[in-house]
Amino acid sequence: MEPATPPLHNSIFQNSFDYAAVGMAHMSIDGRWLRVNRKLCEISGYSEQELLTLSFQGITHPDDGARDREHLAQLLSNAIPSYSVEKRYIRKDRSVIWVLIQVSVVFTPEGLADYGISVIQDISEKKQAAQLIESMAYSDQLTGLPNRALLGDRLHQAMTLARRRGRTLAVVLLDLDGFKAINDKYGHATGDLLLRALSVRMKDGLREGDTLARLGGDEFVAVFLDLVDSRASAPLLARLLTVSSQALPVGSLNLQVSASLGVTFYPQAEEVDADQLLRQADQAMYQAKLAGKNRYHVFDADNDRTVRGHLASVERIRSALQQQEFVLHYQPKVNMRTRSVVGVEALIRWAHPQAGLLQPGEFLPLIENHRLAVDLGEWVIHQALQQLKNWQSQGITLPISVNISAMEIQQADFLERLKTAMQAFPNLPAHSLELEILETSALVDLDQVAHFIAQCAELSVGFAIDDFGTGYSSLTYLKRLPIPVVKIDQSFVRDMLLDQDNKSILDGILWIMRQLGRSVIAEGVETLEHGRALMDLGCELAQGYGIARPMAVEKLPAWMAAWERDADWQAVSLVPRTAV
Ligand code: C2E
Ligand code: MG
Ligand code: MG
Repeated sequence: MEPATPPLHNSIFQNSFDYAAVGMAHMSIDGRWLRVNRKLCEISGYSEQELLTLSFQGITHPDDGARDREHLAQLLSNAIPSYSVEKRYIRKDRSVIWVLIQVSVVFTPEGLADYGISVIQDISEKKQAAQLIESMAYSDQLTGLPNRALLGDRLHQAMTLARRRGRTLAVVLLDLDGFKAINDKYGHATGDLLLRALSVRMKDGLREGDTLARLGGDEFVAVFLDLVDSRASAPLLARLLTVSSQALPVGSLNLQVSASLGVTFYPQAEEVDADQLLRQADQAMYQAKLAGKNRYHVFDADNDRTVRGHLASVERIRSALQQQEFVLHYQPKVNMRTRSVVGVEALIRWAHPQAGLLQPGEFLPLIENHRLAVDLGEWVIHQALQQLKNWQSQGITLPISVNISAMEIQQADFLERLKTAMQAFPNLPAHSLELEILETSALVDLDQVAHFIAQCAELSVGFAIDDFGTGYSSLTYLKRLPIPVVKIDQSFVRDMLLDQDNKSILDGILWIMRQLGRSVIAEGVETLEHGRALMDLGCELAQGYGIARPMAVEKLPAWMAAWERDADWQAVSLVPRTAV
């Protein structure tokens, strides 16, 4: 039977229902609207006619429907006299609003539920304000990063997880170096913009799942989860250092700071809580500041001995750079047919005050993933440019190639810095500088490398792939990249004399390079015999102990004079090419 619309006894009731400042409705026991007022039409966006064809569940957000039905059932069973609930409506225009609904039931004299009365208020604005307040309690307003409170929660969870999974987590307290000066010089608004931009950069530099929080001021905390051991944090820390010291455009300015990092790990030999971890990281950060900033320092807990060992050496290399303990030695590269010296390769050496002259293999691996590799690389380039200038003033034209580490090419501003460095030495002949990049680090992102090579060409800087044949690149890559010079790795050259297969591979590589118009130079030419075999294959450019060992710059003139007179190498220059 159709439920009767509940009577409104006179026009005063009718009017107060129709014109009430809140939404009002009468509903049948099965949940259909029987009468709705204007305000409810306004709130829901539906006309009176439309609402009457809908059930009151019809405009309720699906996620809130179940709870609503539960309340109603209780109400109808007379268990509660009325209920009020906050829920969402989907308006006719599909927008979602929050409403507060109070529902009561009118019973017949026989005690049966007759109809329901709802009073409905739009509380969307209030709800938004509440959400904002909630988010303010957990996030930093300037950067949108988690704040100290949320960091506390996350850290607790992370610690539980680390214990359960038998993994290590790192807590890193990061304090910017030189931020105050920027604030003082450019004002707080600029300082704020820098903080915001930096936090985006740093966050992007983290892995998914890791947390970056802002404690306030220029202090941040990063939490690295799920590490195999403490050593696994080294590349992550290096990256954090790198990102935080990159120059950032802020308005018309280009601002740059760096960061001091304090690191501690969890679990430790003794149980510690989240607050203790933060205090340890803070203490370590202070040490990093004391030690000269722009570095990380690991809190002295028992399980980080290995990382500390590593750090000690990094520290030592840093001070060696400051104390000018590095030198460049130069190894000639020659054209065996024309007998000309085509250039030299700069190879770094560490004149260690106690240990003597150290080879790069003894110290470069320690800073492979470290920001220091970038600083050292910059020193090498500067040193090479200085040498070119010295030679220029002596009337010597001898191009220098420098080795570039993977860490260096990964710097977004590498070319910019190179340009700046070169501007300090204007008027050097074009192509006096060449970059050698290891095959393994060069061919990671083809588009990027192609762009890099093009930019180098624009700067008149040469580009060579080093140790070709040792990486995972294929000849197809080389076809796609405009790499001007390829240095064949010494292992190929060494083995070429030992077996025919290697010689055939080398022959094949040389043939393809000729087709592609690339210049090829062979490394590791240890004997005349190697030289002869290479000449036979049509490879005329060579470098190796058999021609010259790397030497201090003062020794180069004497070597060059001797090389010109060397009868053995004169004979090699006459070897005809038999390979086609
Ligand atoms: P690389 O660029 O492939 O340099 C050639 C290495 O082979 C040099 O070792 C050189 O002394 C050595 N070598 C040259 N001719 C012969 C030979 O006939 N036989 C043999 N067995 N070895 C020969 P070094 O100076 O120890 O350098 C090793 C590597 O360290 C270099 O390999 C390069 O990758 C890296 N390196 C050197 N200096 C720098 C630098 O300033 N920056 C960077 N990022 N890396 C550098
Ligand atoms: Mg090299
Ligand atoms: Mg090499």
